[in-house]
Amino acid sequence: MQDALSGETSALAIFGLFLLAGALELLWPHRQHNGPITKRWFGNVTLYVLSGAIMLVPAIVAFAAALASHVTRFGLLDAMPLPPVYTWTVGILAMDALAYANHRLDHNIGVLWRIHAVHHSDPEMDATTTFRHHPLEVMLDSLLVGGCVLLIGISPAQVAVYSLLAMAIQLVAHTNIQVPVRLERGLGTVLVTPGFHQMHHSREIGQTNSNYGQVFVFWDHLFGSNSGRAADRERPIEFGLDHFRDAGSQLPHRLLLQPVLPQHSSPQSEDQASGTTRNRSVSPVS
Ligand SMILES: [Zn+2]
Ligand SMILES: [Zn+2]
Repeated sequence: MQDALSGETSALAIFGLFLLAGALELLWPHRQHNGPITKRWFGNVTLYVLSGAIMLVPAIVAFAAALASHVTRFGLLDAMPLPPVYTWTVGILAMDALAYANHRLDHNIGVLWRIHAVHHSDPEMDATTTFRHHPLEVMLDSLLVGGCVLLIGISPAQVAVYSLLAMAIQLVAHTNIQVPVRLERGLGTVLVTPGFHQMHHSREIGQTNSNYGQVFVFWDHLFGSNSGRAADRERPIEFGLDHFRDAGSQLPHRLLLQPVLPQHSSPQSEDQASGTTRNRSVSPVS
């Protein structure tokens, strides 16, 4: 399993899926672009390269944590001799619950929001948006995941499988491709789909603070942050934030500087200050 999911294989699989999604977006775009895409793509892909390079260290930390936990049997799962099917289920769900909690923190803590807002300031949404994360966010997230992997006792194989699954789901969730409604509804009962994640990229703060899930939609239903799917809404979703919408703000150096630029506040505090009511169940996923 670990051989099949080696770094090269995983990277090639994700790169292949990215090329396929990009080709489908060019051939059959679901939404027309509002302006030239070259600056956005340049900025988003540059962040991918930077974050990808920086990601190597935290990824090694996460795998080292998993290996250390496996060898020392330090983690919680090591203290409970369970059949593999249970440890795999718990391990995968634990990693996804951690991603959900981490994402909510990104929206609720001011300094984390400044960094995470680079992902949200994309005024459009396509496959390249998947990789639009500030390198600092990648570092912080990976260190947090490494610590939790060690404590929980998640194995290196489970880390590899979950990481690959999460990247594939997130790549599909950001694509600008029309997904058949039946397929979206069917998959959307369990997995994060484009329609589900589009709500999270909405310019409306109440919707930005919803649909935090990375792979599974359970957590949003369980913790009251589900706002349904974009496909079920009458008005099309407008993506991005109120600020950083101009083409110049999409260039790599501006994206890297964005966390220290003015006009930031936690979307949670904006939500509370404006008295906006979060629309928690506009259209429950069914
Ligand atoms: Zn977010
Ligand atoms: Zn996103």
